This record gives sequence, C-alpha cells and structure tokens, in this order.
Amino acid sequence: MKIMSMEFPICNVCLKNEILCSGCSKKLESNGIRDEEIRLYRNLNKTIKGEKHLKDGKISRIYLDKNFALIVCDKNSVPGLIGKNGIIIKKIEKILGKQIRVISDSLTFNEFIKEILFSSTVLGINIMYTQEGIKYRIRIPGNERVIMPLSPEAFASIANTLFNTSAELVFE
Ligand SMILES: [Zn+2]
Repeated sequence: MKIMSMEFPICNVCLKNEILCSGCSKKLESNGIRDEEIRLYRNLNKTIKGEKHLKDGKISRIYLDKNFALIVCDKNSVPGLIGKNGIIIKKIEKILGKQIRVISDSLTFNEFIKEILFSSTVLGINIMYTQEGIKYRIRIPGNERVIMPLSPEAFASIANTLFNTSAELVFE
C-alpha cells in the first residue's frame, strides 16, 4: 500500500530530518528558499500529519514575513488546510506563531490581490510604465497600515517570485 502524504518542496527524508540531501540543497538554492522556510515545511508537515483529508496535496511555497506567512498549495488542498471553521489554520497559526493565509497556486495576479487584500480598502490599482516594464501600484488608505499583516516588502517579493510581476503596495 502506498502511503500518501502532502508533497513539499523538499523530499520526505529531508522533511523528517534536520538535514538536507544534495538534491534538495541544489533545488532550494536555485529557488532562493531559505532555512526559515524549510523549518516551516517541517513544522507544517508535523502539524497536518494526522489530517487524513490532506493526503495527496502539494505545498509549493511558504512566503514569510515577520508576523505573517502565506502558504501556497494546490487548489484542492486550500479548504483542507483552512479546515472546518478555520480549525486547521488556527492550529498552524499557533504553532508557527504567525498569521497565516492559504492560497491556491493557480491564482492569477488579480485574484491574488483580491484574496490577499480582501479585508483592505483598495483605493485603486495604477499601472505604471517604467524602464523595467509594467509596474502595478496598489493603493491602500494610510490608516489601514496597522491592520495589514503583510509588509509592502513581502508583498513586492511575493508578486515578483510567484507571478513574475512587479508590484508595490502604497499607503496614502
Ligand atoms: Zn531531500
């Protein structure tokens, strides 16, 4: 019988041990995945181990900010990672000590913005034509800065790595 488990960017051996095999080392280096993210894979794997409904999904990345983490997984695993009434996500938040948002890896950039900023007031999205190409400027009211879990730096970095898109969050 094949034992199914959630797939991570590192192999099963590396998930369960404090080492990285040479295959995973190479892969992570080329993807710019760092130690803290790898620790989160291991923690998350432990946290969801008993959850039978999360058996053959795939975690593709976890983006980290100081108080926030964005888990990117296959579309079918999103409800499972959130859990009924958010029970799983709350467990993950407690263990990782961060506010968590789970999104599908098949979102478009526009869907991502809606998803990630659903509790914010988006004043407007401007498209700027720069020498480096198109850049999106997403404008949020200044008084919402304190409730925004995601820093503008992390937002820009996620837009860049996940969508190959240049974007900035500005508070005004
Ligand atoms: Zn490995």
